[in-house]
Amino acid sequence: MTEILIDFNKPTLCGNEIAYIMQAFERAHISGDGYFTKQCQQLLEEELGVRKAILTTSCTHALEIAALLLNLQPGDEVILPAFTFVSTANAFVLHGATPVFIDIRPDTMNLNEDLLQSKITPRTKAIVVVHYAGVGCNMDAILSIARRYHIPVIEDNAHGLFGKYRGRYLGTIGEIATQSFHETKNITCGEGGALLLNDAKYTERAEIIREKGTNRSRFFRGQIDKYTWVDIGSSFLPSDILAAVLLAQLENWQTIQNTRKKIWHHYHQHLTQWAQQHRIQLPFVPPECEQTYHMYYIVLPSLEIRQELIEYLRRRGIVSVFHYQPLHLSEMGRKFGGKPGDCPVSEKMGDCLLRLPFYNTISEAEQDSVLKALQDFFSP
Ligand SMILES: *Cc1c(COP(=O)(O)O)cnc(C)c1O
Repeated sequence: MTEILIDFNKPTLCGNEIAYIMQAFERAHISGDGYFTKQCQQLLEEELGVRKAILTTSCTHALEIAALLLNLQPGDEVILPAFTFVSTANAFVLHGATPVFIDIRPDTMNLNEDLLQSKITPRTKAIVVVHYAGVGCNMDAILSIARRYHIPVIEDNAHGLFGKYRGRYLGTIGEIATQSFHETKNITCGEGGALLLNDAKYTERAEIIREKGTNRSRFFRGQIDKYTWVDIGSSFLPSDILAAVLLAQLENWQTIQNTRKKIWHHYHQHLTQWAQQHRIQLPFVPPECEQTYHMYYIVLPSLEIRQELIEYLRRRGIVSVFHYQPLHLSEMGRKFGGKPGDCPVSEKMGDCLLRLPFYNTISEAEQDSVLKALQDFFSP
């Protein structure tokens, strides 16, 4: 095995994480909904201008709460892109939905709005969009179709926290949005997530579902004099220790985003000409989108070339990764009728897309090693 010299991802400390963990113990409250949880929620609400933000144990769990809020019945359908992480589909399937996979646009990897209308049926209960790489979907087109059929839009905004579409923050455009604070995301506490609620009709029930089906949140606000079991729910609250770590990161979101912006542009600037020479596709950011610099990817001409490149980089100690295996062709996706050719763009990207090492502390010298290796691969 070659030694790993440049890893794909590395979590980084912003400064106050450890001090805040100590403070959580000093406050003698390390379970959920403590001081740091409230600080994180308030920061998200104020910065984003969202009606309500609640921390969850993961983006997957936030998606599950969204699924429960929809009151899904057997046969109900949820439309979602075939090119996304498993949880975007699984959270809804777990709570009774049939996933309806839709293909992506070849330029942004976002749900192809031109195909949306054809996927809507009387059983459609939600449209889930993913702002891939933190670049906003065409929300004007998606919302206009969704509004026409009165279907709620859920933004799986795992990549897109603090990104914007036409000046509006991603995650504040659909009825519900979910965030991830997993180690691989821009802002992290290891494992964590948040649910953003832009529609008042969901806020109270979301709190209940997150609190094991009890009205405990209302009790702690002094709105009722005892709390009890009122609905279905589960334990979706993160420990206040994790919220302490998260607050330190959230307070520094602009610094994190600026750091990542420099890294992204360093790759982009040095790859533009190379990409043209070797028929390689680079990320595209429409002018109406402010991206989050979540990742840097390249699209190779074929699966064979991509696999050779991964191996070539690995021999130089550089870790690059690919995703996503299109959901409609996965073992589970096939059970819902998925077959090859259903979503050709997702299938191509599953074969040809490659993500380069990207983390806040990657140095310019390390990036230059990656760039040199890419150059050498095609012209040894
Ligand atoms: C990371 C990710 C998730 C899952 O996030 P967790 O916090 O790990 O549950 C969901 N959707 C997308 C698009 C993701 O990238």
